Amino acid sequence: MHVPFFELDGALIRIRLPGGALAVAAAQAIASVVTEVGAGPLELTNRANLQVRGIPIDAVAVVRDAVVAAGLAAADPHDDERRNVLASPTAGVDADEVIDTRPLVAQVADRLGSRQAVGLSPKFGVLVDGGGAVHVRGRRHDLALGAVRGGDGTVRYEVQVGEGLPLAREPDEVVWSVAPAQALGVVAAVLNACAPFGRANDLVAALGRDRVWADIVGRTGDALTCRSDLAGPSGATGAAVGVVRQRQAGRVWIGIAPLLGRLEAATLRAIAELADEAAGAPLRITPWRGVVLTDVAEPDAAAVVAACEQLGLTCDPAHPANLVVACAGNRGCAAGLADTQADARALVARLADLPAEQRPRSVHVSGCDKGCARAQPAQVSLVAGSPSGTYDLYADRQGAPSPRFGEQVVAGLDPQAAIDAVTAQAPA
Ligand code: SF4
Repeated sequence: MHVPFFELDGALIRIRLPGGALAVAAAQAIASVVTEVGAGPLELTNRANLQVRGIPIDAVAVVRDAVVAAGLAAADPHDDERRNVLASPTAGVDADEVIDTRPLVAQVADRLGSRQAVGLSPKFGVLVDGGGAVHVRGRRHDLALGAVRGGDGTVRYEVQVGEGLPLAREPDEVVWSVAPAQALGVVAAVLNACAPFGRANDLVAALGRDRVWADIVGRTGDALTCRSDLAGPSGATGAAVGVVRQRQAGRVWIGIAPLLGRLEAATLRAIAELADEAAGAPLRITPWRGVVLTDVAEPDAAAVVAACEQLGLTCDPAHPANLVVACAGNRGCAAGLADTQADARALVARLADLPAEQRPRSVHVSGCDKGCARAQPAQVSLVAGSPSGTYDLYADRQGAPSPRFGEQVVAGLDPQAAIDAVTAQAPA
């Protein structure tokens, strides 16, 4: 749990959820305390964490104690803030996955929260991908492990330091890899190597990539080997929205998309009740700001979807709400230059009137050029600028100058003109 940020709408607490896992009882406890102190809404983040916004300043300690009591944070905030582990939200149920990453995710989170990880930056992050249809490849992390299969059928974790797991591989490309049973040892070695520097990129900048790998290999005996016969998922991930058959016969997982990744406390409580009634399995928060319910009996899926729709949520992967992300904007953030939430809602409504094939693939509405809501460029970005309340429109193009947004196409649009301009963009 992060110590509170103070925002325009009150204090904000970020709750780290390794692998996005949120137990039903913990979700209910959070919903209760948020209601009790009059806080909210809750935000799902692109690191699959949970943020509570709008906390009255005199209620911060009450919320913080409730989060710790629910088992969602370590009592020492300095230990807790290192527990950044991102994983696929369908680990253990994905019909295509190479390995269930949940045990390793829990071990890595424990290690990051231990005294052995002191020195690492609170931004240090570990990614663990199981190689399923819903994957988290392509996201740059300090340490990334991705499940792959060797040409001999054995399961390995490909290992990257300061890089993302690639979405495509050159023929015969050689990568470092480790057997699952030795993966935690490699994680420990990388954490130890990085701790004096804070972040992996700072370690690489100081020593150079070859020396870093030589050091890590030296710390891990013969656990790491270079291989060129490894294959894992390639290309874009499957959407974590919809009703999808699990690897377990007769069970489905259901991906739910709240509009702009925001939930009222009552809605979180209702989702937790649905999960409890369906199977009692933990909720999974996704890095696409959604929620996944697992282990739902196939005949019950239609009723769960209908209940979600009653709550104003969608389980439809084709819904335009899946295309748009937005930050808090000027209603919640002191740096915000436009009401991104209102403008993004209006944009979603407009996109709903367009045939699916005419909609952009992704849109990012950002309250300033920091771009907190999305790490990679969207196909189209609206970035609030000067004068306040207007947007500059960016498009993601090969070699574009801004790694966050792409290339600026037009500046100074009022919200209505900005929405018109987004709908006029050619689909990807
Ligand atoms: S992008 Fe800017 S306005 Fe939006 S949350 Fe981040 S700092 Fe605030």
